[in-house]
Amino acid sequence: MASEDEINVLVMVIDVNPIWWGQQTQRDPKFTLSKCLDALMVLANSHLIMARSNKLGIIANLYQESHFLYPSKKWKSGEVLSANGDGKYELLSFANDLLAEELRNLLDRTGQDVKSRILVIKAAEDCTLQYMNFMNVIFAAQKKNILIDACVLDTDSGLLQQACDITGGLYLRIPQKIALTQYLLWVFLPDADQRSQLLLPPPVHVDYRAACFCHRNLIEIGYVCSVCLSIFCNFSPICTTCETAFKMPLPQMAKTKKKKLKTVN
Ligand SMILES: [Zn+2]
Ligand SMILES: [Zn+2]
Repeated sequence: MASEDEINVLVMVIDVNPIWWGQQTQRDPKFTLSKCLDALMVLANSHLIMARSNKLGIIANLYQESHFLYPSKKWKSGEVLSANGDGKYELLSFANDLLAEELRNLLDRTGQDVKSRILVIKAAEDCTLQYMNFMNVIFAAQKKNILIDACVLDTDSGLLQQACDITGGLYLRIPQKIALTQYLLWVFLPDADQRSQLLLPPPVHVDYRAACFCHRNLIEIGYVCSVCLSIFCNFSPICTTCETAFKMPLPQMAKTKKKKLKTVN
């Protein structure tokens, strides 16, 4: 069991992409976003009752933004949630910088045993726009000894497979969405120490080939932007990610060809 002074932080990141969830609800009305949230609440509650010192954070991810769902600044300060003037329950609009700051302080605190992990509930497709940010997150997590776990509801994610592999977390694409609660409790509730004693799904084969940013094809050899490390399958004089223009000398072959053409004309 976890010792008294050990802090176990679980941060859940939920993909609430409305397009994906809308399509999902049409495909299978039994598994909706609210069903998914129910399952996550079971995991959240279970995590909190495992030990008094356990901490929890829940972040909803929507396109390019993320919002802290729990804990929120307003709950902390004792304000009533509906006291927004217009009477709207704006749970999703809380961006809790304070909590992020406190969590950062907590993770930076030395002398106390803090084990942290991030569980990503992935629904929609990967977006290459966020590739760089995500890679930075992976390496920051690795440096801070934070595990990244991934619970994938739909198509596999090469990026998350790499994130889990690099940080020592668990990647699982669940075979049955409807059984999400079981998978969460079985696979993602135990922390890293407890996992070593369990028989969990075998690790996936991680495809470390990178996907090109232009077509998202997996490539073995490609062009890498020297500024932002974006990968392309074809050479382009301007990087489409960071807009760096490369002054490339024309290859000798091309020059001679041009000259030849001129003489012909
Ligand atoms: Zn390409
Ligand atoms: Zn670039």
